[in-house]
Amino acid sequence: MGRIVCRFYALGWGPPSSNFAEASLVSAWAQPEPRRCPTCNSVERARAHPLRFEWEPPFRPVGDFVWPFLSIFPLVARSIGERLLDGFAGAQLMPAEAVPRRGTIRQQKAAAARELCEFFVTHEIGSVSGPGVTEATCMSCGQRVYRFEGISRRESRLWTTPAAEVNFKTRIVKRDPLGGIHVRSDALNGATFFRIGAERSPVLCTEPFLERLSAVGPTNIEALEWGDVI
Ligand SMILES: [Zn+2]
Repeated sequence: MGRIVCRFYALGWGPPSSNFAEASLVSAWAQPEPRRCPTCNSVERARAHPLRFEWEPPFRPVGDFVWPFLSIFPLVARSIGERLLDGFAGAQLMPAEAVPRRGTIRQQKAAAARELCEFFVTHEIGSVSGPGVTEATCMSCGQRVYRFEGISRRESRLWTTPAAEVNFKTRIVKRDPLGGIHVRSDALNGATFFRIGAERSPVLCTEPFLERLSAVGPTNIEALEWGDVI
């Protein structure tokens, strides 16, 4: 293994105790019905803009970041996104459109003041290595499929008390210092933000972004350590 340049992190919603408005993805794709490989579940499709989403009831305050369910495409309030991205490469703000939905009018009005954009990652890395990476090629479609181990993640636990109340606790499982993923610095080519494969990973960022993140201090975002840039 080469010299470690810096760490890199996955960005996601959180911490889970925060109680912000939630949304679902309506469409992000050029084709309305993307073709999915029956074996590996990977999708053959091209992104289209604007990303369309809808709010989920009940009414809640809109965080600086919104993470539509089951999607890896986050939304960010424009003013916050501009401050976060200034001077960094690998992502840009793209238009996002809320699709009106019955029962969420109050939410739509509250959100309109925030002017949400998509936090769109433009830099993709085709291949990665490292002790936590298992790579396979799908026999059906030929797509490269990764499994990642030893990365930092949030673990949730649900249990019921004797009084029949449901409790929910989460904790961060730290990255295994000998595990995780290695990304080559020349593959980043100066980018701060990137994904591994087109739609295979969440938004990833290199360590220098964490300082900006803590200076701007947006709500509803969490960074978990995934590996090293070497
Ligand atoms: Zn496949």
